[in-house]
This record gives sequence, C-alpha cells and structure tokens, in this order.
Amino acid sequence: MPADLDIAIIGSGPAGLSAAARAQELGCKYVLFETEKHASDTIYKYQKGKHVMAEPGYLPLRSGMRFEAGKREAILGTWDDQLATQKINIQYGKKVTAIAKLNEGAGPFQIQCEDGTSTTARTVILGIGLQGNIRKIGAAGDDLPNVDYTLADPNAFQNETIVVIGAGDAAIENALALREKNKVILINRKDEFARCKEGNLNQILAADRNEELQIFYNTNTVRIELLKSSSADEPSAQPCMRYVYKDPEGEKSLNVHRIIARLGATPPRALVESFGVTFPQQRPRSRARVV
Ligand SMILES: Cc1cc2nc3c(=O)[nH]c(=O)nc-3n(C[C@H](O)[C@H](O)[C@H](O)COP(=O)(O)OP(=O)(O)OC[C@H]3O[C@@H](n4cnc5c(N)ncnc54)[C@H](O)[C@@H]3O)c2cc1C
Repeated sequence: MPADLDIAIIGSGPAGLSAAARAQELGCKYVLFETEKHASDTIYKYQKGKHVMAEPGYLPLRSGMRFEAGKREAILGTWDDQLATQKINIQYGKKVTAIAKLNEGAGPFQIQCEDGTSTTARTVILGIGLQGNIRKIGAAGDDLPNVDYTLADPNAFQNETIVVIGAGDAAIENALALREKNKVILINRKDEFARCKEGNLNQILAADRNEELQIFYNTNTVRIELLKSSSADEPSAQPCMRYVYKDPEGEKSLNVHRIIARLGATPPRALVESFGVTFPQQRPRSRARVV
C-alpha cells in the first residue's frame, strides 16, 4: 500500500531536527511533527540564559543542524535560522496521539494527530524525548500555586525565600541563578551530588562554602502547607507557604515564598507502548525491544 510520506518524524528536539535535516538533504518526502508552537521544547524550557553544555563531549556531531555549547537563546536562534534556510518541513501544533501499523510487517504506518488530522508514512522516527511525565514531589501540597516544576526566568523573582528541591543539573542551575537576588535553600535527599556535571558540582559547592546559598543534605519533603491568611496566588512580601521537611535530626519547617522542584521526568512509556513499541522489562527506563 503506498504511503503519503517516506518518513514521519515525531518531535523537533535535537534528535528530530537532525533527522529532518538529513531527510531534506536526501530528498525524502517527510514531515517533522511538533506538539508545540516552537521547535525543541525541552531546550525552549531551559531557564533564560542557561549555558547549554556540549555533553557528552566525546561524540562527534554529524547533524545537519549546527550545534556548539552556548547560551539557550543562541542555540534556539541558530536552529530557527537553519529550519528556515534548509526549508525543513516542520508542522507546529501537531501532537501525535496514535500510530498504527496498516499491514503486518514493517509498515506503512498511520499517524494520527490530536487536531484530528492524519497521514501515512513508510517509516516513523520517534524523537519525542524523555520529558513526558515530570516527576512531582509526592507530598501533600505539592500542587499549590507557588510550587513549580520548571523555572523560565530566574530574574522574575527577588527578595524571596526559595526552596529548590533536587540534586541534578536542573536543580543546581536554578539554585545558582536564583541565589543572586533571593535566599535559596537547596534540598538534596542524599549526602552528595552524584548526578550532575562537574562544572555545576564545583559551582554549587563553592556557593555553599561562600554562604551564597544553603544546601540541606539527607533531607526529605514531608508536606507543604499554605500559611494562614495568605494565598499563594497573591504576590506578597511575606512567605505564603510552610515547607515541612525531615533531616537526620527530625522534622523541621521553613516559611517560604516559592518551591521549585527539579526531580527529572519518567519517559513517556505508555505513549510509546500505545504506538506498538514493546519493552522487555517493567523498569521505567528500560530500553525498547529491538525487532
Ligand atoms: C533542565 C535540563 C537541562 C539540560 N541541560 C543540558 C546541557 O546543558 N547539555 C546537554 O547536552 N543536555 C542537556 N540536557 C539534556 C538534553 O536537553 C536532552 O538530551 C535533549 O533535549 C534530548 O533531545 P531529543 O531530541 O531526544 O528530545 P527533546 O529535546 O526532549 O525533544 C522532544 C520534542 O518532541 C516533542 N514531542 C513530544 N511528544 C510529542 C508528540 N506526541 N507529538 C509531537 N511532538 C512531540 C516535544 O515537544 C519536544 O519538542 C538537559 C535537560 C534538561 C531537562
């Protein structure tokens, strides 16, 4: 059965952009589908001004999209320019919700979008990234209005007491950026930072040593409460929440304006399974079965 496209590429992060640049170069009939109204949503959501590191450094870049370590804005700008100059066939606002095989065997596939449109393709490239399900704090109050799971612009906040939860690069970068204008407490449930890049590790330990922020180790969130006579919706000079936590000495609390939790994400496995991909194990980070 003939298909509308040679290739349907789902997701315009660095993986999908590279695939699309190559498909364009080879003269394939393809579409790059992107849920959002802009390309590369994971990088788009990095905090303003973030220095994007070239990691891992030992992989030679073979993409038709230029990349070098630099500021978030410069990288997104370069990719937008290259999308235009290379005439990449990207469709924005197209969230793929279903992929079904039309025959037994390798394909073709029918690709269905949330807006009701559909197409068929001989091959599908899934470049949807890992940000499907953002991990929540998992304690009472973790959905109060001033509890956030991203940080768009660190300069939007000043003179606040802010708890940042997490021990990875995102939490460290948020804490470092917020410390200049706020009182920042970084909550690490372990006794070290084992999951971050070396540059971030050195900076956060130096900031702690220089008392530019505080790090609480071996600390877990117990609950978050809205303080009486305050609403997290209304900006106020006073803290609006009580952050209750447990460290090796027992239960304690802090009054805070804002909590930013950067706990990573679990891969969008249910979605990928609904597309017909199978996994050999239940583990959330298990790799897909190769057929
Ligand atoms: C806070 C943070 C900081 C990071 N810092 C760095 C760094 O400094 N250096 C570094 O090398 N890496 C960094 N990373 C990792 C890096 O962002 C990822 O490795 C990279 O973005 C993965 O690229 P990708 O193309 O696989 O997916 P993504 O970049 O996640 O892109 C996936 C795209 O698919 C789209 N999409 C998802 N589902 C659908 C659907 N159903 N239909 C259509 N479109 C869909 C999304 O909107 C998104 O645009 C960081 C990650 C985070 C979260």
